[in-house]
Amino acid sequence: MRTETAVRAATVNAWMTEAAATVRAQRDYLTQLDSAIGDGDHGTNMDRGFAAVEKALAGQNGDLPPGRLLIVAGKTLVSTVGGASGPLWGSALRAAGRSLGDAQTFGGDELSAALDAAIAAVVDLGAATPGDKTMVDALVPASDALKRSLGAEVPLELAIAAASEAAEEGARATVPLLARKGRASYLGERSIGHQDPGATSAALILRALERVVAAEAA
Ligand code: ADP
Ligand code: MG
Repeated sequence: MRTETAVRAATVNAWMTEAAATVRAQRDYLTQLDSAIGDGDHGTNMDRGFAAVEKALAGQNGDLPPGRLLIVAGKTLVSTVGGASGPLWGSALRAAGRSLGDAQTFGGDELSAALDAAIAAVVDLGAATPGDKTMVDALVPASDALKRSLGAEVPLELAIAAASEAAEEGARATVPLLARKGRASYLGERSIGHQDPGATSAALILRALERVVAAEAA
């Protein structure tokens, strides 16, 4: 038995609420990062999107399984966020939701598969590869760390903590990179020396999941 911890609909609801709060608290920071190498809207984009997600999920009846909630969240992001991050995160959450299907609870292996489905959707839409200085540079290390931890029979809450730590490291590691995708790529060499805003918000969103799952496990 790998782990007793299970993720359920309430976990996903709490995660999206926590993600919305985190993005709101870090809105100015994300916008500041995007001002350096983009158009300075990443904080407001993510805040608007996740505030709408929180509202959309609050309006759902309590019966939807976790995967369905993520699909609602993804659709909401696509319809409320104009920037690149809306369709990218929207596709990611929808793909994660589809991967989870209609199961009422899931564990580490399903979470890992859902994260990989999310990454595949982002890559399918945006064609970024690791090292292009995008959110992929946070999400791929997170997936690798999650798999390593689950393979070592680490409890789910600690595996998620390792994943979000890896995402944060991945975001920090975007600083010296040259942007090859998105608006930042227009800057060429001038994109070097700045942390990617989308990788940074991806790490924040995984940190939000870490806190919610840790609180449930306690
Ligand atoms: P926009 O660039 O349209 O203003 P945002 O500022 O909200 O949208 O989001 C910018 C972030 O989106 C970038 O920091 C990057 O992480 C991510 N991003 C942009 N283009 C891509 C892409 N093709 N693939 C993956 N992520 C991308
Ligand atoms: Mg922007």
